[in-house]
Amino acid sequence: MQISLRRNVDQLAIALRGDVNEASTDQLADLSGKIEVGRVEFDVSGIELINSFGARAWITFAQGLRRRKVVLTFVNCAVEFIEASNMYVSFVAPSEVASFQLPLQCMSCGVSKRVVCHRSQVNEGPTLPSQNCERCKTPMKLEVDPETYLAFLEIA
Ligand SMILES: [Zn+2]
Repeated sequence: MQISLRRNVDQLAIALRGDVNEASTDQLADLSGKIEVGRVEFDVSGIELINSFGARAWITFAQGLRRRKVVLTFVNCAVEFIEASNMYVSFVAPSEVASFQLPLQCMSCGVSKRVVCHRSQVNEGPTLPSQNCERCKTPMKLEVDPETYLAFLEIA
């Protein structure tokens, strides 16, 4: 996992890329030490894989920050990150997710893409914004079941 860290005026911005796995335990422990009390925004758009060891390390990391009253926000959550959020308790809290990716596919020409959806777009329930295919203009379909995919938000 690659970690990049940027200090802004009122918060810390951390971008995570790659795989969250057994090698992430030490990295996350080290990262935790660099986070002082305050606000942290995580861009997790580059997360590619989260295995069970990685999920455990992540939950330990996130719960530790929450205990220290660090306010966590997750933006551009990758599909893999959302799937882990649905699978593991305490992986994220519903209120911490600001935006996430939706996997879309065109049934006509097969193009697939991921679009970022903001939390406010689904506050009323799992109705998702529609998009047309850039190549053939056919309305694109979600590659996931919306109710299952958004279960972590607890809005259904
Ligand atoms: Zn198409």
